[in-house]
Amino acid sequence: MSENPPKKPKLEENLEFECILPDNLLKPVELIEVFVLNVRDKKHIKQAFQLLAAFPYKDLNHLKRVKDLQVIFCEKNQLKDIRRTSNEEIDENKSDSEFLGEFVKRQNWSEWCSEEVSLVKVPACQPILRWQYEEAAKFWPCKFHTNVEMERLASKSPFIEKEAEIHRDLMKSLLYLSRSLEEIDVGIAVNPLTNRIAAISHDLTNFHPILHTPMSLIDAIARSQNGGAYKETKKPHPEDKNDLIFKGLPSNLVEILLDSNPKLQFGATIPIKDKISDSEVLVGDNLEKFGPYLCTGYDIYLTKEPCFMCGMALLHSRVKRVFFAHPTKDGSLLTKLKLHTVEGLNHHFQVFRLKNDS
Ligand SMILES: [Zn+2]
Repeated sequence: MSENPPKKPKLEENLEFECILPDNLLKPVELIEVFVLNVRDKKHIKQAFQLLAAFPYKDLNHLKRVKDLQVIFCEKNQLKDIRRTSNEEIDENKSDSEFLGEFVKRQNWSEWCSEEVSLVKVPACQPILRWQYEEAAKFWPCKFHTNVEMERLASKSPFIEKEAEIHRDLMKSLLYLSRSLEEIDVGIAVNPLTNRIAAISHDLTNFHPILHTPMSLIDAIARSQNGGAYKETKKPHPEDKNDLIFKGLPSNLVEILLDSNPKLQFGATIPIKDKISDSEVLVGDNLEKFGPYLCTGYDIYLTKEPCFMCGMALLHSRVKRVFFAHPTKDGSLLTKLKLHTVEGLNHHFQVFRLKNDS
């Protein structure tokens, strides 16, 4: 009796991505309190504006200073500095509102504004997304310019259709590769400028405990740049054993990916090393200008959300974007933290996950 050949895995359908945004883009902007002067008549607004120019308000430049007949005087917490430096010698036992009323009187501002000042809530920082702006404007008028890219990333369709198709196809092939290898955790690196797969790898923790998929993938990319610490683990793609651009592409994995999609193209981009200086590499995405340096400008597709070690390795490798299929309990890009959004780190990248997966 002959055995049936093993069934080929099916390709996934209807894959959609969702951008993992910083938390400050998922909630309305916070509010703070400011003191406002109540101008008596519209005709005094210009005068108020000129006089208040001597009282610049800190960190509130995202706000328009005037709303109807109200003009921002200063942030609530800033008033103590004004009290301290004022020459008016106003009774220090007075409340802030009483102090400000007295201050208005002594400045001879009473003819154009009331001595009754108000404390009102205003947006504490610049709204980034339009819905945040609309929420913020309910409290106080803000300055705002639509950030088209950010609006798209925050929408249900973070990519234009042509680009979405490329990411879907690559993720489908990645999941196909994983299933073909008995659900092992796999990853691929792609140069989005050429849409060529630069490196493929999978979990190699049997070989070395730190070789989680992203770590082994970074090593495979390093091989395409004449580096790599674990060369002995892979046979190069047979197409050209001497050509660096195939060094991160093990032939067995290439064949499985081609089985999922014969149109896939392979080959890393050659670094233009003599043109790279550290300072240039550190500035943004220079893939087009200088070729890859580590993973600069590369997109990384992973079956699983990376752990912290791998998240930091991807960050240090200066990846452009990370796409992952499944969150993990110790994940660093969604579950435990959004590492790619942490301020103060010297590189940031975008992260996308497959929707409807938990
Ligand atoms: Zn890891």
